[in-house]
Amino acid sequence: MEILKWLTGAPEKNITPREFIEKNKMEHPYEHPQGAPPEYGEYLYSKLKANLPQSISDLFSMDKAVVGQLGIPTPDAYTKRIGDNGYAIIIHSGLPRFIYEVSRIIFANSNIWHNGGIIQKATASKEESIEIISSIYFEFMKKGKVGIKDDYQISREQVNWASDNATRAEMFVLAHEIGHISIWQQNGTNKPVSLQDELDADKNGLYFILDLTNQLNTKEYLYKKRMEYAGAEFFLRIYAGLEHLGYSFAHTHPLPSNRISEFRKIALGLAGNNKRNFIKLSTVAFAFDQLLEAVEQKIADKSKSAKFVVGLTAERTVSTLSVLIEECAKGQIHIETALEQIVSYLKYVDAKTIDEAAEYAMTMYFVEAYDGPPENADFAEWEKQIFKGIIQTLPEPYGKTFQEHYNPYRSL
Ligand SMILES: [Zn+2]
Repeated sequence: MEILKWLTGAPEKNITPREFIEKNKMEHPYEHPQGAPPEYGEYLYSKLKANLPQSISDLFSMDKAVVGQLGIPTPDAYTKRIGDNGYAIIIHSGLPRFIYEVSRIIFANSNIWHNGGIIQKATASKEESIEIISSIYFEFMKKGKVGIKDDYQISREQVNWASDNATRAEMFVLAHEIGHISIWQQNGTNKPVSLQDELDADKNGLYFILDLTNQLNTKEYLYKKRMEYAGAEFFLRIYAGLEHLGYSFAHTHPLPSNRISEFRKIALGLAGNNKRNFIKLSTVAFAFDQLLEAVEQKIADKSKSAKFVVGLTAERTVSTLSVLIEECAKGQIHIETALEQIVSYLKYVDAKTIDEAAEYAMTMYFVEAYDGPPENADFAEWEKQIFKGIIQTLPEPYGKTFQEHYNPYRSL
């Protein structure tokens, strides 16, 4: 295949990155959907630009790094080296297509909250959504392109949310590719791309999109970062699904199945190894988790499923807990409701994970001191009090587990 030849072969010579992209665009013209920016790659770059280091944005302004979209129906993105210091980032039209179709269903299955109330109830059930997403995967594997699914109910509001989420996922794709360029710039281009490079490109990419220089506790900022992080994980999930179906990407290396777990470690590191900040950052991503994992399970070979599903981890358990506490603290739900929902969630989690989650939650609420803006300190204290109340009222066997871990912090 021609694409694979590009990637495995030596860098192209006697051509500029832009010429390389233009030449390939002639062969694979991209018909952009109505309403979409004609140069989609450049549009994504313009949204990312402010977060990039000067040395990287210089490459783009000097046309040494160019991003372009080709009309090829597979969901691939990669970077081709051109000459000594040139890069052509290629995004296939199948990638945004795939991401968008799945994102739409995710948001059809989401309740949308605003100012303490639900403004949009989910229009598609969980079962229906799993069914539709799985069929997108199966159809793609059969036909080699993404079919359009529109036989389910979705509102204008949900479509907008889905589209924003898709854009954030694609921004991460571009950020990951720029992450490779950044590695080449630092380490040279002699070595072939390794698995570690992929993880490092993820790390750079996440760093570029998140820009965690501000406090995560500022409300608007936190909200924005949560959505950005969710977009990135959402993309990794889409790839994981394709990987389970045996789709071979036009990348130099197969993607590791443990990429999501590694990715979460990276995110924790970027959040200063502060569990509280990581959990605050990842709540929306964790909310997508259940549905996307069910999809993975459905599409993958059953014998393999245990190996790849990240599952009900301690982090996700704490995330669920912390979201309910936050909603409670904002007065969106009653403490009894929160308690009920926590118990119904814990039922599915094994004892060892609950034990880990209890310790994790104690670290979050009692060890890691609040370091956000002073105006939010009262809210953080209020969340802590609600958590204490929950520990005291959790039914057995959960109550005992949480109280044991709580003992050293009783005086706090
Ligand atoms: Zn890569």
